[in-house]
Amino acid sequence: MQPEEMKEAIYRCGKCKLCSIATYHPNEKSLPICPSGEYYRYQAFFAPGRLEVLRGVLDDEIENSEGLLKVAYACTLCGACYEKCREISSIEQNHAEIFEEMRNLLVEKGWMMDAHRDIMEKVSETGNAYAAPVSEDYGHGKREDTLYFIGCTSRYREPEIVDAMIAVLEASGEKFSILGDETCCGSVLFRTGQREAGEVQVQKNIRAIKESGAKRIVFTCPGCLMTFKKNYPDLGVELLHSTEFITQCLDRLPLKKLDMNVTYHDPCHLGRHLGIYNEPREILNRITNLHEMKRIREQSWCCGSGGGVKSAFDDFALWSAGERIREAGDVADILTSACPFCKRNLAEAADGMEIYDVVELVKLALEV
Ligand code: SF4
Ligand code: SF4
Repeated sequence: MQPEEMKEAIYRCGKCKLCSIATYHPNEKSLPICPSGEYYRYQAFFAPGRLEVLRGVLDDEIENSEGLLKVAYACTLCGACYEKCREISSIEQNHAEIFEEMRNLLVEKGWMMDAHRDIMEKVSETGNAYAAPVSEDYGHGKREDTLYFIGCTSRYREPEIVDAMIAVLEASGEKFSILGDETCCGSVLFRTGQREAGEVQVQKNIRAIKESGAKRIVFTCPGCLMTFKKNYPDLGVELLHSTEFITQCLDRLPLKKLDMNVTYHDPCHLGRHLGIYNEPREILNRITNLHEMKRIREQSWCCGSGGGVKSAFDDFALWSAGERIREAGDVADILTSACPFCKRNLAEAADGMEIYDVVELVKLALEV
């Protein structure tokens, strides 16, 4: 995005601030929808204020400072402001993309968070964002039409999601492969403005995927899926989230109903950024008793961990997750999501609430 395009987007904002509230019911008190603004309680942390700070950077009125970096990076890029603004103004202007461009601009000037530079160094040295010893445990050497792309967070921090997905793929009768030398998709690098380092990861994965001969790729991580859709060239392969894959084979999976009252948290990358809202609900309605929270789908409250927030502002990430846990507790005793990153952050703030990925519940339903 060129500076002039950014400025056009900035001047389109009427500063009405309606992008800060979820209108879930006209007769009830409106609930907040921008975690960044709600946590920091200062105008610069809501979308219109952040746009104005970007204008100041573009016009060389604002220099590098701790305050500027906090405004630029303490935003989960959840996209709630975009959805609300679009609903109110009918203007298609993706604020999450503009705020990501803001970060690209700052990184070009060398203005960035140490936490994000650390992650970039870890990815470049070890191939994963956690600097974990490379694990080839899951590698299947065979070439198959379907490839399961695991992603760093599931592979190195939430392996129960990987085990569940493998069990579901096997139960579906689908033949699949897994890259033994899978490397970070680049999501965290692109989201934190480190485009050049992200491109390096893109090229590595393209080579490995072409060699695998895969015709479709299934992801349990919506961040990886979104990055493949947004930042990779068209590979000529079908890209599917686990919930889309499972929905396609729901009728051939031997699933039983679980005696569980659950609610579902829409991951921002899966919902607002990719428009996948129905599939997880179709699965959960089949295998559990699903009870919806007030802020769902386009007006979902973010878990707080995306956009590089978890690594740089853990207090903010955990506060957002705690808000979601309380909301979930009003309607159910089990909280599900469909993203390893959401699961990880929500689990840290869980306060006794059980947290599962949808895939894990599908595996449980297979075993009943
Ligand atoms: S709803 Fe749109 S126009 Fe209103 S303050 Fe938010 S971004 Fe600006
Ligand atoms: S992307 Fe999310 S956290 Fe960032 S300003 Fe918009 S609503 Fe707030």
